[in-house]
Amino acid sequence: MDKIGVLVTHKPLPYLEQELTRRGCRLFRLWESPESRRLEFCRENSSEIRAIVGNSNFGADAATIDALPKLEIVASFSVGLDKVDLPKCKERGIRVTNTPDVLTDDVADLAIGLTISVMRRIPSADKYARSGAWKKGEYTLTTRFSGKRVGILGLGRIGLAIAKRAEAFDCPISYYSRSEKPHPNYTYYSTPIDLASNCDILVVACALTEETRHIVNRAVIDALGPKGVLINIGRGPHVDEPELVAALVEGRLGGAGLDVFDNEPHVPEELFALDNVVLVPHVASATIETRTAMADLVLGNLEAHFLKKPLLTAVV
Ligand code: NAP
Repeated sequence: MDKIGVLVTHKPLPYLEQELTRRGCRLFRLWESPESRRLEFCRENSSEIRAIVGNSNFGADAATIDALPKLEIVASFSVGLDKVDLPKCKERGIRVTNTPDVLTDDVADLAIGLTISVMRRIPSADKYARSGAWKKGEYTLTTRFSGKRVGILGLGRIGLAIAKRAEAFDCPISYYSRSEKPHPNYTYYSTPIDLASNCDILVVACALTEETRHIVNRAVIDALGPKGVLINIGRGPHVDEPELVAALVEGRLGGAGLDVFDNEPHVPEELFALDNVVLVPHVASATIETRTAMADLVLGNLEAHFLKKPLLTAVV
C-alpha cells in the first residue's frame, strides 16, 4: 500500500496507525483538523486520498465523499454503518467494509454486564462500600436478573449472542426483528410495543437506519414500565433520549444501562444522580483483543482492495 493516501477520521488505535504507516500508507489525520475546516482539509488533500478509515462516530458522509473524487474504499472500524452514506458509495462505485463478528462477544458481554449492573445496582453498591456507608447499615435490597424475561430488538449477530448468554441465566427470550427467525425457543413479537409489554429487560441490538431511529419511543418506554429495564448497546438515536430521561426521572421506567447516546460524548446530566442508571462511554467493543481484531480486519480489507483481491467483509 506504498504511498496510498488514507484519510483517518478519528484518532485510531495506535496499532492500526503503526500498521498503516508500516505498510507505507500516507495518513491524513482528519481529527486533528478543527471541525469547521474538515471539508477544506479533504479538498486540499483530495488528489492523494484513495481510502477512508472511519468509525462509529465519523464515517463518510455525502459532503466528505463529494470532496474526494479519488476515493475508492471506505473501511469502517465498526460493524454499524449508520455514519456511511451507503447509497452515495454505491452510486460512485466506492467499496465499503465493516468489522462484523469479531466484536460480537464483547458487545454481548457488556449488554449482560450492564443488565446485571442496573438490576443489582453494582456501581452504587461499590460506592457504598468505598465510602464507608456500610458501617452505618446494610445496603438496600436489589432485583434478581436470573429468570427475568429478556426482549431483544434486532436478533442479528449481537442480538443472538445476547440471547444465548441470557439463556444461561434461565431467562425466557423474546425478540422483534423485521422477520421471524428459525429459533423455536425464542418468542417473536411483530411490534416493538408488543415486545416491550412482554419483557422485563429490553435490549436494543438492531442496526441504526431511518426505520429504527427512535424505535424506542415514549409508547415503548411506557410499555416496558416502572419495573422494566432498558439496555442500549445499539446506537444513541435508537432511543428518544429526552423521553427516556423524562421516564427515568419521573420513575415511569425502572432503570437503564446505556453504552450509547444521542450526542456523544455528551451524556444527559439529569441521569447522573440516578442509582438505577448505569452509564458507560461507548465501550462495548473496547477490549484490547477485539479492537486489535477490528484493526486487522480494516488492514486486511484495505490490502485486499489495493491488491485487487476479494474484500474480507464487503458491504458494498
Ligand atoms: P447484524 O447482524 O446486521 O444485526 C442487525 C439487526 O438489526 C438484524 O437482526 C436486523 O434484523 C435488525 N434490523 C435492521 N433493521 C431493522 C428494523 N427496521 N427493525 C427491526 N430490526 C431491524 O448486526 P450486528 O453485528 O448484530 O450489530 C448490530 C448493531 O449493533 C450495529 O449495527 C451497531 O449499530 C451496534 N453495535 C454497537 C456497538 C457498541 O459499541 N455499542 C458495537 C457493535 C455494534 P432483521 O433483518 O431481521 O430485521
